[in-house]
Amino acid sequence: MQETLSTFEPTLSGARRLDADDSLAGYRDRFFIPQTPGGEDVVYFSGNSLGLQPKAVRGYVEKELEDWATLGVEGHFLARHPWMPYHEFLTEQTARLVGARPVEVVVMNTLTVNLHLMLVSFYRPTLARHKILIEGDAFPSDRYAVASQLRFHGYDPAEALVELKPRPDETTIRTEDIEALLEAEGEEIALVMLGGVNYYTGQAFEMGRIAEAARAQGCTVGFDLAHAAGNLVLALHDWGVDFAVWCSYKYLNAGPGSLAGCFVHERHARRADLPRFAGWWGHDKETRFLMPDAFRPLPGAEGWQLSNPPILPLAALRASLDIFDEVGMARLREKSDRLTGYLEFLLQEKLPDAVEILTPADPAQRGAQLSLRVQGGEGIHARLVAEGVVCDWREPDVIRVAPVPLYNRFADVYRFVEILTKAIGSR
Ligand SMILES: *Cc1c(COP(=O)(O)O)cnc(C)c1O
Repeated sequence: MQETLSTFEPTLSGARRLDADDSLAGYRDRFFIPQTPGGEDVVYFSGNSLGLQPKAVRGYVEKELEDWATLGVEGHFLARHPWMPYHEFLTEQTARLVGARPVEVVVMNTLTVNLHLMLVSFYRPTLARHKILIEGDAFPSDRYAVASQLRFHGYDPAEALVELKPRPDETTIRTEDIEALLEAEGEEIALVMLGGVNYYTGQAFEMGRIAEAARAQGCTVGFDLAHAAGNLVLALHDWGVDFAVWCSYKYLNAGPGSLAGCFVHERHARRADLPRFAGWWGHDKETRFLMPDAFRPLPGAEGWQLSNPPILPLAALRASLDIFDEVGMARLREKSDRLTGYLEFLLQEKLPDAVEILTPADPAQRGAQLSLRVQGGEGIHARLVAEGVVCDWREPDVIRVAPVPLYNRFADVYRFVEILTKAIGSR
């Protein structure tokens, strides 16, 4: 059931009632919450940068440390979760998390590495069609990756990189403008490569519509889901997306620098014509240890693996994915919608003139995060931090806050707006 804005109340008791009615409230106890110097829980709204640690992580990792200590190399086969196929223990949960079939997903490497591997295979410029479409304010690593791939193929990003920009006086990009651009220039565009949720504005792109419009023009389409995985309900298979990549340390709570995910649509699962940069872990499992000269890729996303993966971060990710799988993205998103809706409601009630919300008001076009433009932003951010709020500041003038449905409370949202109101009032 969707909570409507009219049932929100701008009081602490109202926030506490929402927490009391929240069927996911108990999950907060499964996480370590950082403390203020005074020993209170911080208001942690940076789960979009680094998710909090699930308490179960230690046990999952310790199990592998114990098996390594007692078994040595035999752990590849004899560990309680044998290391040889360890990444496969994450496949089913990962597939459910992003709306994919198991053959379409793998956990490997880190995000930007996976992006390059996907660009090697799926950016196939031709004389008539060589451009790449990205967001104007794409995350720097994505921009560097895409621009370097263009140069690698002999193109000048100044000419070959097409950037989506909001209309004048608007802060986010309209889906119909993306569709119109594809309609007009799609024949020259080889690849559409967007974030699922823009890291800066918090805009969630309508990936299904965009994928359809891109594919209608013969473009390949890929998404960077760094800010979407574990945040939105995704349907990568049904949307027909060619590839996607994401990291696991933001909403997925797998720890700093943990392993990334990769999706390759089933229609590419057995394509031998795609160029790829290969490594032995992508080779057919049956013959991998015969050490053959000729590379024979595994079908599906696994065929893009390079190396035998690091087990300790895989164990941490498995601990986290088990929680996501238990809750399910649909329930999580339902709470997230309410939690972020409550934040928007309180900001409009208490600070209608002092705060501009850059993120779309339409819940279908955002996830957990709201990006706030606050007059005197950097000083305000410093005051929030001093009062025990963890959120981030992005040049030139944006405070990003992400109430995360697994561990944030409605009372956290209330407290944040209270502290922000005080900080703005004393400016
Ligand atoms: C967080 C983030 C990254 C980070 O890349 P790493 O390779 O994990 O360091 C890249 N792209 C986007 C869009 C991000 O939000």
